Amino acid sequence: MYRFLFFNTILSPSFLFICYFNYHAVSLHKKNIVAEYPSVLLENAVNEFAKLPGIGRKTALRLVLHLLKQDEVDVEHFAEALLRLKKEVHYCKVCHNISDTEICEICSMPQRDASLICVVENIKDVMAIENTRQYKGLYHVLGGIVSPMEGVGPSDLEIESLVQRVANNDIAEIIMALPTTMEGDTTAYYIYKKLKPYQVRITAIARGVAVGNDLEYTDEITLGKSILNRVVFEG
Ligand SMILES: [Zn+2]
Repeated sequence: MYRFLFFNTILSPSFLFICYFNYHAVSLHKKNIVAEYPSVLLENAVNEFAKLPGIGRKTALRLVLHLLKQDEVDVEHFAEALLRLKKEVHYCKVCHNISDTEICEICSMPQRDASLICVVENIKDVMAIENTRQYKGLYHVLGGIVSPMEGVGPSDLEIESLVQRVANNDIAEIIMALPTTMEGDTTAYYIYKKLKPYQVRITAIARGVAVGNDLEYTDEITLGKSILNRVVFEG
């Protein structure tokens, strides 16, 4: 009897209608929550800002609303700077540092010691080392470090071009200034093995910082000292 009533109720048109109506109402309600921006243009801009590292949707909205309050000419300058950065910036043909010209300012300076090459992970490291004012050699920017977890292998990095620089130039010393992480050590060891046949002195910066610290977060005095007090790299 109860079973009959149960199925009868479940299959009755009015019950099905109520179910459909409730479902529809819930989905409409959800739609109302999704449409949180009063303008599609505003939402598009927020979406773009929220793609940036470390920027959540709340911060993105704050930035977009800030831009909206600015003069049109200021927003044009902002947009133009981003576009020109992407379209016109070069990577130095020699060291792969970011540059406005084919060969970067550092590689072009005759007073820099061209027999010294400091190997770094990225452009931020070049800036950090330059800020110490302790290093007068050149750089080689790898564009990352070997990381199997993120699918980055040696061939994805500027390692072969480093080997070519050592093979074709009078290089006295290669200084490894890579992160003291497992990935950094793996990368340094790979480079060490690649450069071993070339009779070049290979050193590593002596770092008084905790394992895992990136160069960019090391203070200038510590980083400056560690470049001066470098040690022979032992593979
Ligand atoms: Zn360069």
